[in-house]
Amino acid sequence: MKTVLIDGSKEEGGGQILRTSLALSCITGKPLRIENIRAARRNPGLARQHLVCAQAACEISKGKCQGDALGSHILDFRPGPVRSGDFHFDIGSAGSASLVVQTVLPALFGVYKPSRVTVTGGTHNPWAPPFDFLSETFLPAISPAGFSGRCKLIKHGFYPAGGGKMTFSIEPSGQSARPIDLCGSGDEFQIHARIYTARLPAQIARRQEKLLSDSALNIADIEHVEATDSDGPGNCVMLRICSGGRTTVFTAFGQKGKPSEKVVGEVVSLAQDFLKSGAVVDRFLADQLLIYMAVSNAGAFTTSELSNHLLTNIEVIKQFLPVDFNTVEQPRQYRVSCQSP
Ligand code: AMP
Repeated sequence: MKTVLIDGSKEEGGGQILRTSLALSCITGKPLRIENIRAARRNPGLARQHLVCAQAACEISKGKCQGDALGSHILDFRPGPVRSGDFHFDIGSAGSASLVVQTVLPALFGVYKPSRVTVTGGTHNPWAPPFDFLSETFLPAISPAGFSGRCKLIKHGFYPAGGGKMTFSIEPSGQSARPIDLCGSGDEFQIHARIYTARLPAQIARRQEKLLSDSALNIADIEHVEATDSDGPGNCVMLRICSGGRTTVFTAFGQKGKPSEKVVGEVVSLAQDFLKSGAVVDRFLADQLLIYMAVSNAGAFTTSELSNHLLTNIEVIKQFLPVDFNTVEQPRQYRVSCQSP
């Protein structure tokens, strides 16, 4: 089969180009060469998380990799047939465990046999889906389309200490799969907040609670989770928007020297932008749904914006699969759909 050549510096120029390419290489069996890996990032090349993504793709498909070394800018990957199993991956840093899971999931769903994936690393990381997003937003969004799984948080891991752990069970696809259909708008909603702290003074959560209560949003309740199992300090503030049986999790991360006003301000404005749009799918879930729509060759959703991640992912997917995506601007939101060209 002809090798698919991917330029990792295009558009968003980040790790998602690598992860989507690895996943689709496994699914289609097409060999992959990716150059200029993460060229648009401050630390280009393969970081630990990306290296583990490549190793994970090799392991589930008994594939072969060249260039799989830290800092590498080029990777050659030749997949074999994807098999189910009980897989364990250790990032060995605070790199995002969710993103490693997301690399192997699409291919493992296609095996139609149960698998289990356990990843050690960061479970609540900036610039990546936190565990709560995976369990409450992502999984429920793909499950009606026949991609059914369960995930469990074993141990919290925050940047920079990492050391967290999550498991993911992939179940054989049900008979009643139907295309992803997350369109429409105008549902009633309720907002719930969740504050995580680990190894930090109690006053941080108290201040963040007060800031949330004083914000322009009408927040029904605020839960504080003290992550006593974490190896190092950590803090994040989540807003969970529940509407029409769905939950959208937005997160902002605390870090040393970043005032709580900024942390709470960030998550409140993410939620406000989403709510203003009336869309069903947030800007993060939007780019993560595309690969599932592409393998089912169907599906549609409304989203608040066309992010760079989303536009880049569409281009990567089209290099592997004969699908087309249509993006239509509507008042305050966009409609994204997938079909055969
Ligand atoms: P990249 O920057 O290319 O490594 O891709 C990051 C991925 O993480 C994208 O799929 C984003 O949608 C996702 N992501 C980043 N931040 C969040 C967040 N706060 N919640 C959910 N997903 C996120």
